[in-house]
Amino acid sequence: MPLSDFERYPLTFGPSPMHPLTRLSEHLGGARIWAKREDVNSGLAYGGNKTRKLEYLVPDALAQGADTLVSIGGLQSNHTRQVAAVAAKLGLKAVLVQENWVDWPDSLNDRVGNILLSRIMGAEVRLDPAGFGIGIKSSWQKAIDDVRERGGTPYAIPAGASDHRLGGLGFANWAYEVEQQERELGVFFDTIVVCSVTGSTHAGMIAGFAGQDRPRRVIGIDASAKIDETREQVARIARNTAALIGLDRDLSDDEITVLEGWAGDYYGIPVESTLEAMRLSGGLEGMIIDPVYEGKSMAGLIDLVTSGDIPKDSTVLYAHLGGQPAINAYSALFR
Ligand SMILES: *Cc1c(COP(=O)(O)O)cnc(C)c1O
Repeated sequence: MPLSDFERYPLTFGPSPMHPLTRLSEHLGGARIWAKREDVNSGLAYGGNKTRKLEYLVPDALAQGADTLVSIGGLQSNHTRQVAAVAAKLGLKAVLVQENWVDWPDSLNDRVGNILLSRIMGAEVRLDPAGFGIGIKSSWQKAIDDVRERGGTPYAIPAGASDHRLGGLGFANWAYEVEQQERELGVFFDTIVVCSVTGSTHAGMIAGFAGQDRPRRVIGIDASAKIDETREQVARIARNTAALIGLDRDLSDDEITVLEGWAGDYYGIPVESTLEAMRLSGGLEGMIIDPVYEGKSMAGLIDLVTSGDIPKDSTVLYAHLGGQPAINAYSALFR
């Protein structure tokens, strides 16, 4: 059925703002670069891309009579923080399994930033020593079982709200929002650059844009340092989402582009290009990006523009997906 027929529970302010990154564009000597700002898309605990995805999961949770949202992520997961905020807003409980996805030696990693916000909002935060992975975990299953045992009705939301039937809809909708904003602003973005890890942000965009008349490049930049898993997950979710919203053709492989080269060796550990991208974006635009996700996708954008892979006459839209609270666990990098 068409996307507009899916129920959407509003959690955002409306269309997220879009604006040109003039000084960054000048600095790179070409390509007109704009940003679309999911980091300011909502009043719920700083928002972000997961808030948009959750707009399509919440009606399903409410229809099932859920009283507890159960989800999983790393210690500094932006996703679980957004789940905690949505639960608070809806008067539901949240149980969050926080795993040790990143071997990062900051002694405040499990206390500041996202995890602090989740605790403030009243979520039940469970620390778990398991490492990075976007698959389904026993600790998550246990959290779901525990809610049931207490007499509650859990609604399970996988990591990043990605591997979920409705996970791609939020960013399929984003694609139509972009088309609408383009009409209003009189611009056309021939290239979109987006960070990709659990995959449904990029995948949803691919499915949404595939239903539009004008083709464009939707470039995912891997930040998981597990490129094969990211590609597989993006392709699968893009195809499932396209089918779900009634796209009347198959997606071709060349519509699914996830590039590697900016993740470094590990998810959550920034490399020099990440820090440089953070400094450039902050110093030229006052636009703060994080060392886990957006610093890596911005590093990709910078290199693709500099190398001419994205041509100088391109008009590029950088999807800023949020994630700034995690910066608090990375203070040692900027002393
Ligand atoms: C989750 C997240 C991403 C990655 O999005 P996926 O849908 O998991 O691929 C990128 N940036 C930020 C800030 C995020 O929180």
